[in-house]
Amino acid sequence: MKVSIFSNNGQSSRKVATALHRGLTAAGITIDSLNPDIVVTVGGDGTLLSAFHHYNDRLDKVRFVGIHTGHLGFYTDWRDYEVNDLIQSLIRDNRQSVSYPLLNIEVEYADGTHSDQALALNESTIKKVSGTMVADVYIKGELFESFRGDGLCISTPTGSTAYNKSVGGAVLNPRFNAIQMAEIASINNLVFRTLGSPLIIPADEWIRIEPAEATDNVLMCDQLSIEGRPIKAISYRIARQRIAFAEYRHTHFWQRVESSFIGREAR
Ligand code: NAD
Repeated sequence: MKVSIFSNNGQSSRKVATALHRGLTAAGITIDSLNPDIVVTVGGDGTLLSAFHHYNDRLDKVRFVGIHTGHLGFYTDWRDYEVNDLIQSLIRDNRQSVSYPLLNIEVEYADGTHSDQALALNESTIKKVSGTMVADVYIKGELFESFRGDGLCISTPTGSTAYNKSVGGAVLNPRFNAIQMAEIASINNLVFRTLGSPLIIPADEWIRIEPAEATDNVLMCDQLSIEGRPIKAISYRIARQRIAFAEYRHTHFWQRVESSFIGREAR
C-alpha cells in the first residue's frame, strides 16, 4: 500500500504530518505522493478539498482519509491525537470504503469553446461581481425559470452542509445520488419570479444556466475560481466519478451533521 500525506502549512498540521510519516515508514508502508492508494490529509476541510482537486484524475484508484488539526471538519473525522490508531488501521487495511457523488461542470464560453469537464466535491457557484445576475435556468433541456439575484449554488450531497446550507439549502444524505440548486438572494416580486426554494434533481437530469450577459460573472468550483473568458452557459450534472473515503470506522451521516452543527456533547 502506498500513502500520500497531504498537509497544510500550519505548525500543528506539519507536526502531525511528521509523526504520521515516521509511523508509517516504521510500519513498512511506502510514502508515495505521485501514485498513492490512500491520501491522508492533515488540516481541515479546505485541505481535503485541495487534495481532492490535486488527485482528481486518480479518483478510481485512491481513497481519502482526513485528519483535522483545527476545529472539527466535515470531511476530516480523525483527530490529531489519533495518529497511532490511524496507522494501525492503515496497516490492517482491507480496502473498506464509502463513496459519495460529485458534481460535473461543463462550461461553454462566449467564443464558442468548451471547458474540460471539471469536478466539484462541495459545490459550484455562479455569481456576478457587481449588480444583479440575470440568468435563464434550464432543467433537462426545458426552460424552468429566469433568475435575478446574487447568484446560484449547485451542490453535491456532501457539499449540502457547506455553502448550500448558508443560503438555505437542505442538508442531503449522500446516499441520494442527486444534486441541489439553491438561490443566493433572488429577487422575487410582481415582475421577477423564481421558485424561491432549493430544488433537488436526480441523476438522469441536468441543470443548464445561461447568464444573460457573458461578462463579469464569477464561476467557482469548491474553493477554486474557474477564471477567465466570458461564459455563455454552464451545465451541471452528477459526475460519473465518485470520491471514496477509507472507512476504517463508520460515522453515521446524521451523527456527523449533529456533531458539526448542533454539538450537544460540547454544550
Ligand atoms: P474557508 O476557509 O472559507 O472555510 C469554509 C468553512 O466551510 C470551514 O469551516 C469548513 O470546515 C467548512 N466546510 C467546507 N466544506 C464543508 C462541508 N462539506 N460541510 C460542512 N462544512 C464545510 O474555505 P475552505 O476551507 O477552503 O472551504 C471552501 C468551501 O467554503 C467552499 O466549497 C464553500 O462550500 C465554503 N464557502 C462557504 C461560504 C458561505 O457559507 N457563505 C462562502 C464561501 C465558501
